[in-house]
Amino acid sequence: MTETAKKKLQLWVEEHHEDFLTMRYRVEKTLFSGESDFQHIDIVETSGFGKMLFNDSTAMISERDEFIYHEMISHVPLFVHPGVRRVLVIGGGDGGTVREVLRHPGVRHCRLVEIDPLVVEACREHIPVTSAALDDPRAEVTIGDGVQFVATTDERYDLVIVDSTDPVGPATPLFGPEFYGNVHRVLEDGGIAVSQAESSLLELDAQKSLLGILSAIYERVHVYNYVNMTYPGGLWSFSLATKGQLCPLENFDEGRVESSGIEFRYYNPMIHRAAFALPTFQAKELAPYLTGFADTRKP
Ligand code: SAM
Repeated sequence: MTETAKKKLQLWVEEHHEDFLTMRYRVEKTLFSGESDFQHIDIVETSGFGKMLFNDSTAMISERDEFIYHEMISHVPLFVHPGVRRVLVIGGGDGGTVREVLRHPGVRHCRLVEIDPLVVEACREHIPVTSAALDDPRAEVTIGDGVQFVATTDERYDLVIVDSTDPVGPATPLFGPEFYGNVHRVLEDGGIAVSQAESSLLELDAQKSLLGILSAIYERVHVYNYVNMTYPGGLWSFSLATKGQLCPLENFDEGRVESSGIEFRYYNPMIHRAAFALPTFQAKELAPYLTGFADTRKP
């Protein structure tokens, strides 16, 4: 047998962004593959990114860089609001956002509303680095539609985090006006809503649409950016909208970051502030919807 004949077959998984961009990851092993009522779910062990969760062939998380997304979606609002006690996470069935939220001892209750029980089940079995947090006594998992939940619940929250997939399938209404009206309804006065807001480099129209909706409902609307390797485009955003006048820079409690003793891997006070500095093209396009940021309005 020749040397080349001994080569192991290489398996790759691909995520396509529209018809012009493909992300490819080398697969060592398929750990889970299943079909739910909502989507196809795969968890694979990759060579360079650790375990990865794919919903309908779209990457949700990779072990290599999930800390960036989960730290930024959680700690930014948690260090702006002076005392978050109750948190609602919509989507996020992998558990990574709940993990970061619960690193704040002041948080008494964190409810996760995930529409797909199979996402939670598969992550509990194969991705404990994110899902183990769901076993924390302060966490409560509700399987159901987040849109329905915020329309009907009597509960109130200091922070709502929309940890959603792209606006397709059951996640489409998570980018709509009715949903955000109800998120405003379930927020306590002074509360904050943070949402996965897509990539300004690839989905600027989706970002404008989301901010247009938020700016019609919320007292203040902001956008902040983070980088990652797993989502196409690399530079992605979160929206931060408030029921009240909390400002993510003026009300940012930098001292509390230090005294929290939390060991971050991406987040820190400089990253917090810098994340709100938007590239010129993004600031220009989003300026009509953003609140009171001289530095984003005059790039
Ligand atoms: N970090 C990820 C990203 O940006 O791609 C999001 C991860 S998390 C796995 C997203 C979850 O939202 C999915 O598991 C999906 O099932 C859930 N989801 C979609 N629509 C939903 C809805 N209407 N209510 C609750 N959860 C929903």
